[in-house]
Amino acid sequence: MLKQTQLCTHLSVLTDVRSAQEYVCEECIKAGDSWVHLRTCQTCGTTLCCDSSPNKHATRHYHTSQHPVVASAEPGERWLWCYADEQMAGY
Ligand SMILES: [Zn+2]
Ligand SMILES: [Zn+2]
Ligand SMILES: [Zn+2]
Repeated sequence: MLKQTQLCTHLSVLTDVRSAQEYVCEECIKAGDSWVHLRTCQTCGTTLCCDSSPNKHATRHYHTSQHPVVASAEPGERWLWCYADEQMAGY
């Protein structure tokens, strides 16, 4: 199902891709902040903002939770990113 699984064990064990439940950053919305793009954590399903956003919640989530893989939550984008191995995969 995944097009690229080399070097990354996290992406290769992923059997299904979680999509965003709501199109908001769950942390920014609480604080009343804005964001640029959204990523959905593939471990817990939380949707958070990308590195172009002021709060970089998706990256922060990786460092605090050690959940390595996110999927783009942007409409039409079908890719995954592993923070641990810095690997991208399409699906
Ligand atoms: Zn990985
Ligand atoms: Zn955010
Ligand atoms: Zn998570």
